[in-house]
Amino acid sequence: KAKDYAGNQYQLFSNDIEERSVEQIQLENDLFKALQRGDEFELYYQPKFDVRSDELIGTETLIRWNHPEFGLLSPGRFIPLAEETGLITALGEWVIKESCRQMKKWYDKGCTQLAVSANLSPQQFQQTDLASKVAAILKETGLPPQLLELELTENLIVNNTNQTLKTIRELKDLGVQISIDDFGTGYSSLGYLKDFPVDTLKIDKSFIDHMTTNANNAAIIKTIITLADSLKLNVIAEGVESRDQADFLARHGCYWIQGYLYSRPLPVSEFEERYVPSHS
Ligand code: C2E
Ligand code: MG
Ligand code: MG
Ligand code: MG
Repeated sequence: KAKDYAGNQYQLFSNDIEERSVEQIQLENDLFKALQRGDEFELYYQPKFDVRSDELIGTETLIRWNHPEFGLLSPGRFIPLAEETGLITALGEWVIKESCRQMKKWYDKGCTQLAVSANLSPQQFQQTDLASKVAAILKETGLPPQLLELELTENLIVNNTNQTLKTIRELKDLGVQISIDDFGTGYSSLGYLKDFPVDTLKIDKSFIDHMTTNANNAAIIKTIITLADSLKLNVIAEGVESRDQADFLARHGCYWIQGYLYSRPLPVSEFEERYVPSHS
């Protein structure tokens, strides 16, 4: 009996693996096709606010995939796949272009101070011609460079230091803003911060969760804010869900926040209804 049981378990297990890889392969094919067609991807816009004035200070684009069969997929479902297959460079370029194109439309409607941030994957950053691609996109869309921000992760910065530094400098020379996303979660030393011309540290959501009840998280947050202050960098917190969290952050000198407390990521139409002045 035990043997039968084990046999069944094995059977279930191996079917499971087969199914998952079939699904992966399908997704991979679909991703390729979707990129060629280009109409299944959609950017959601999550606003960023200054808690002192409740003023909108920027918006981050977060990609979604309207899969014909599986419905709306979040980036966790397909970004890793795009990275494995190398499709991320094409997808990432689409993200930057679409972010700039949309923001220029809103700029023309009066949002002249609103910056847009796009997330960049490490592989995208390893392209030696990234800055010239970004320059071409800025030129084509007409978005002022200072209104584009690129969110990078720390892990990207530890890899391949010389090329990374070169690319960051080229992007800064274009006038683009650079922020370090998920700050505090990477396995890097802090030394890079003195060499890399970054503008903003974005405190990771994992520290914000339970920060009012977990003294360690609170200590880390305070340290990051102090660090940003000493290095004359901006600091923003992501994943802020409660008033208590926002109050704590503001009390310690972090005034920029993003999170469900203020707004979830919104589709274009909803973002326009709420935040774009001349839209009706
Ligand atoms: P991220 O850049 O750190 O984005 C924050 C994630 O937290 C987003 O998830 C956002 O929807 C979610 N979030 C924001 N505020 C809150 C909150 O108050 N509570 C909770 N529970 N969640 C909140 P999402 O959209 O699923 O994106 C996940 C990650 O996928 C992003 O993390 C980013 O690393 C990656 N990603 C998203 N769009 C792109 C893209 O266009 N290109 C690349 N390379 N990566 C992307
Ligand atoms: Mg981000
Ligand atoms: Mg983040
Ligand atoms: Mg995060």
